[in-house]
Amino acid sequence: MCPSDKTLGFPFRSNTMEMRLPKTEKKRIVIVGGGFGGLNLAQSLKGTDFQIVLIDQHNHHNFQPLLYQIATAGLMPDAIVAPFRNIFSKQDNLFFRMARVEKIDDEKKQIETDIGSAHYDYLVLATGATTNFFGMDRVEQHAYTLKSIEEALELRSAFIQYLEAAVSRQDMDENECMHFVLIGGGPTGLEMAGALAELKKNEIKKGYPDLDNDRIKIHLIEMGNELLAPMSDESSATALKYVQDMGVKVWLNTAIEDYKDGQVILSNGEHLQTPMLFYAAGVTGDAPEGLVKAEMARGNRIVVDPHTKVKGYEHIFAIGDIAAMPDPENGHPHPQLAQPAIQQGKYLAKYIKKGCPSDYQGFQYKDLGTMATIGKKKAVADLPWGKFRGTFAWLMWLFVHVMSLVAFRNRINVIVNWTMSYFSTHKKYKIITRSPRVLPKAKEEELIS
Ligand SMILES: Cc1cc2nc3c(=O)[nH]c(=O)nc-3n(C[C@H](O)[C@H](O)[C@H](O)COP(=O)(O)OP(=O)(O)OC[C@H]3O[C@@H](n4cnc5c(N)ncnc54)[C@H](O)[C@@H]3O)c2cc1C
Repeated sequence: MCPSDKTLGFPFRSNTMEMRLPKTEKKRIVIVGGGFGGLNLAQSLKGTDFQIVLIDQHNHHNFQPLLYQIATAGLMPDAIVAPFRNIFSKQDNLFFRMARVEKIDDEKKQIETDIGSAHYDYLVLATGATTNFFGMDRVEQHAYTLKSIEEALELRSAFIQYLEAAVSRQDMDENECMHFVLIGGGPTGLEMAGALAELKKNEIKKGYPDLDNDRIKIHLIEMGNELLAPMSDESSATALKYVQDMGVKVWLNTAIEDYKDGQVILSNGEHLQTPMLFYAAGVTGDAPEGLVKAEMARGNRIVVDPHTKVKGYEHIFAIGDIAAMPDPENGHPHPQLAQPAIQQGKYLAKYIKKGCPSDYQGFQYKDLGTMATIGKKKAVADLPWGKFRGTFAWLMWLFVHVMSLVAFRNRINVIVNWTMSYFSTHKKYKIITRSPRVLPKAKEEELIS
């Protein structure tokens, strides 16, 4: 008899038994994480004589660069996710298991997960990074973040719920519902700020005609002295001008210190009242425990050699955001971006196929540039062959993002949606899909009939 998922939790939590996998004489490569790194590695190992086991805590690959579009009602999740079982339906040597890897035991060459253990001959960690709150517990407890589809939907639902409350309830003080505070002036914070500013200008004005649009305030807080710090000075300055012109209040050289009684406390002594605190100001490596011999770099990243091998281990590799491989040119680890993860995944597949020779040429990162979008026809791009801004950069951003989506169906879906929204100011997906957050209860007589 099948145990009830209500009593045990899905997927029938059991870390005492061995995970069900086909028995084989082939060598087994276990890949933990199906993000950009793990996915590209697994795909590049198609047709090889290994048994590939891909383990991820989610059942889908998620295209993180477009998560903000889900959060701001521009796209539905199925436009940017692809179930692993669809992606790998034609890859006979790959077995997907949905589980969270909790521990590595290299003595036994085994991983422990919440659905059981599994043996490996080679283990690849591609677990990415998670949000770093730098010990600010209250911020961690209350802030919205953006790493997964669940978080994006949570954010969208809350945002629309607060708009509905603001338009309907007399007791909702303007500060309570209508101020959005975004922490972190990197691409995620900036893209969120730009998308919210566009929503305010178009969608909210038309969709909520009885709401005083001027009451909506968007604050973007950045600790450093510029936005998009890793990009060129020109791009940082252009991004700042764009977002300020769109009505966002930018606070540079300002850090968040706490979130207390609904107020964001800033390092300059200011307090900003808001129920919608969004946090994208830091990440930390998300490695399972057990790598006792590994060397850890800044940001909890695992130090790897030029073949992506974890220092101190013969058969364990790490790629993407979780790995710190010093760039031979400047000694800094590669940036935590999609391209290093993709390129390392493809490199490692070649290295393993060759039998992992020590004299094999090490990984060389090809920097394809960086771009960020702020709004319609407003983007910045630093590419190896030039720096661009405005409409041309925005068109390039659209093209690159559509082409990078994993599934052909995703690409069509996004093209259709973006084309429609270009000619319309209405966002189609203003849908609350999560249980509403508990707002203070209004008295009957205070509801506007
Ligand atoms: C909102 C946002 C916007 C971004 N925008 C851009 C952009 O515009 N351009 C760009 O280049 N980069 C961007 N990035 C960064 C980019 O997405 C990452 O650098 C990239 O995803 C790293 O790939 P990865 O394979 O290392 O990890 P990820 O893609 O994060 O994948 C990690 C996977 O591991 C799984 N996992 C983690 N721990 C476990 C565990 N213990 N057990 C099982 N599974 C586990 C996760 O579920 C996830 O599927 C953005 C990131 C975010 C969050």
